[in-house]
Amino acid sequence: MRIAVIGAGAMGSLFGAMLSRVADIYLIDKSEKHVQAITEKGLVIEKKDGSSEIFQGLFAATNPESVKAEIDLAIIFTKSCQTKEAVRSAKPLLGKKGLALTLQNGLGNADIIADIVGKDRTVAGVTSHGATLLGPGHIRHAGEGATYLAGSTENLPFLQKIAEVFNAGGIKTTLSENLDSLIWGKLIINVGINALAATLRVPNGVLGMTPACEKIMAYAVSEAVRVADALGIKLPYNNHIEQVKTVCANTAGNRASMLQDVLRGARTEVGVINRAIAEKGKMLGIPTPYNIFLSEIIEALEATAEHRIGSF
Ligand code: NAD
Repeated sequence: MRIAVIGAGAMGSLFGAMLSRVADIYLIDKSEKHVQAITEKGLVIEKKDGSSEIFQGLFAATNPESVKAEIDLAIIFTKSCQTKEAVRSAKPLLGKKGLALTLQNGLGNADIIADIVGKDRTVAGVTSHGATLLGPGHIRHAGEGATYLAGSTENLPFLQKIAEVFNAGGIKTTLSENLDSLIWGKLIINVGINALAATLRVPNGVLGMTPACEKIMAYAVSEAVRVADALGIKLPYNNHIEQVKTVCANTAGNRASMLQDVLRGARTEVGVINRAIAEKGKMLGIPTPYNIFLSEIIEALEATAEHRIGSF
């Protein structure tokens, strides 16, 4: 299988490296420094136990046009605000039959992709793997977990093939019939953790064991669950706040991706997480004051990044 990863940052590099054992991989990323490091020195994947593996000889480029082969699958792994541009650039590589897959967080990525390549050629899912970009060509594989994929029935044979290739590459993957449940199950976790971790600048573990944090998490999560219920979405677990706390405990040392974005003054994904809940709540007449406030704080952090007073 020929797979292009569009947005080969933390997660794209991780998936690209793992899949390179069993597929032809084309890494496309806007960062020249990252692409240059991968090409010249190899892609370094640091594991949780501190050991590292270097993947040499990977194809990496900033311009998708440098991929001369027709691609079977494009995995879109940019941040959500870059999805549209990434998919547009991937489309010409896909020929007549190639599919585009999103494993990004938040609401709406699959819809953006479907608008560009067509619903029948869009597959989506969620992953519990975690990764951090440490520097050009250098990734930390921060956590392992299950990956789920869902698509239309016409895609089923190809979806099965993707799952086979992912499993062969060491990415434990299962097919699911309920995409909304997958996406919202992950969304609720992100609603509870991301904005709060980014505001307080603490690793995930601290949130789950601090009553003052748990209180805010519980309000934000219960608002999101009410919105999901009103939309008729069946979540993949029952005790929502306990699930969020379990994820905090299982990823105790991790810095949430929104925290990483805030720390480097980059745009966050709050628009497709807490803000998306607030917007859906407004549409449905469900009050979401905690998600509105968390969104506003993160948006204010984004807007004031260049004036931040550092620690001393
Ligand atoms: P990242 O910022 O490390 O990587 C994104 C990469 O996309 C960057 O390297 C950037 O240069 C590149 N990029 C931006 N626009 C591009 C374009 N038009 N074409 C090509 N490359 C482009 O982000 P990440 O942490 O890998 O997260 C990617 C997605 O995966 C997000 O939606 C995130 O929520 C989700 N996710 C992340 C994790 C995690 O642990 N990091 C886990 C699960 C899901």
